[in-house]
Amino acid sequence: TIQRRFRSTIFALSTAYVKSAVAVFRVSGPEAARVMSLIGNIESPEHRRAYVRRLRHPVTSKIIDSGVMLWFKGPSSFTGEDVCELQCHGSIAVIKTLSSALASIDGLRMAEPGEFAKRAFHNRKLDLSDAESLADLIDAETESQLDQAIRGSQLSGVCNQWMSQIKEAMANFEAYIDFSEDQDIPAEEVVKNVRSTLRNTLLEIRLALQSAPRGHAIRTGFRVAITGRPNVGKSTLMNILSQQETSIVSPSAGTTRDLVKTTLDLGGLPIVLCDTAGIRSDTDDAVELEGITRAKDFAENAHINVSVIDDPASLARDRGEVANEDTIVVLNKIDLLRGCTRQPGIDYAVSCATGAGIAELTDGIISRLRSKYAPDAPPLIVRERQQELIQSALENIEMCLADELCADAVISAEFLRRAAMDLGRITGRVETEDILDIIFSRFCIGK
Ligand code: GDP
Ligand code: ZN
Repeated sequence: TIQRRFRSTIFALSTAYVKSAVAVFRVSGPEAARVMSLIGNIESPEHRRAYVRRLRHPVTSKIIDSGVMLWFKGPSSFTGEDVCELQCHGSIAVIKTLSSALASIDGLRMAEPGEFAKRAFHNRKLDLSDAESLADLIDAETESQLDQAIRGSQLSGVCNQWMSQIKEAMANFEAYIDFSEDQDIPAEEVVKNVRSTLRNTLLEIRLALQSAPRGHAIRTGFRVAITGRPNVGKSTLMNILSQQETSIVSPSAGTTRDLVKTTLDLGGLPIVLCDTAGIRSDTDDAVELEGITRAKDFAENAHINVSVIDDPASLARDRGEVANEDTIVVLNKIDLLRGCTRQPGIDYAVSCATGAGIAELTDGIISRLRSKYAPDAPPLIVRERQQELIQSALENIEMCLADELCADAVISAEFLRRAAMDLGRITGRVETEDILDIIFSRFCIGK
């Protein structure tokens, strides 16, 4: 395989453009050594060595800052090219001046988002699935997302393993195709061999696919709906759970016409909490009707529907308005009720006014999500792209092993070849540029 060469040298501020203690610039490409020399006055730098230097503007020779310059000789660097990293003080003035200093050097230009990762990919420092996990790692906001990003980085290794098992199985068919005329091997025999070679692979693939919805939910957040009639305290509860004023609390009925969403971290799980419009059947106001449709849709597809009531007597009436098996019924305003708040059908009795029962409700939501979606190991498959490809690989393997086809080795081998191609697309070894662009443009600049 050919290492791709990029003529341009790219640079970017890898840390955020805000005032902070330290800022880091990264430079990658053939001119990186000249940056060491022109800005840091460092000639023939040593691989992986840090130099403390006064940083000078190459045009004006003015001292910009004193900082640390690191040198990584390609291919032993993140991108596989010569890389120089520049750590300076995180002052806006220093950042601006250093940016213009770098831009003034011939052959250097500002990097596009994800361009460093893209070069790493082309130089085989990182495969596509690694790049996706890296993006997830950077985006991770909760502990479970972090765990998953780290686990997700194992997917390419697992896919490569599956791929080599599939290739091993393919060899069986190929041997059969080449030699069956001389040796008279029955096709059934070959399929039996292939089946035993692929038995574990099939099991592993099916198991990985089972965890995909969970992986997807952890990446994008578990949807928790808060439903109930107007005025029962949905907005108040939402505000308490999200601990911020995200939705309008109003004493008059029917104000929350649209869906108000907020994302939060509940016990390490990412949650998308949604305060739905009061689900009411007796309105003909178009705007409110639209709100009701959206609310029902969200609530029915939510991972958990928190159904709020403020009167134990309305329990029977509200049941069935939202068809979601994962419904938690919450009786609110217990500060106004005297006794008899505990009854069958009510999971939690709370008061948003006094805070009673809120901690129990929060724990209840977390433990329900955990028991259903987050047991043992974090999921391997976290993206729809990966899920679709692995699903397709599975179907191709199943087609290959289907009884009615076992008579034709050529067709069976073709199904395995397709399965291997599907898996190859996950790591990006079989891929087109446009898909790469979509994935890498999601990165922030400087990565
Ligand atoms: P929503 O229409 O379901 O979103 O209801 P809101 O959150 O707007 O609340 C309606 C009214 O009930 C507001 O005046 C709240 O202050 C009040 N409220 C909410 N929770 C409680 C509670 O636990 N106790 C009491 N006494 N009032 C509450
Ligand atoms: Zn409301």
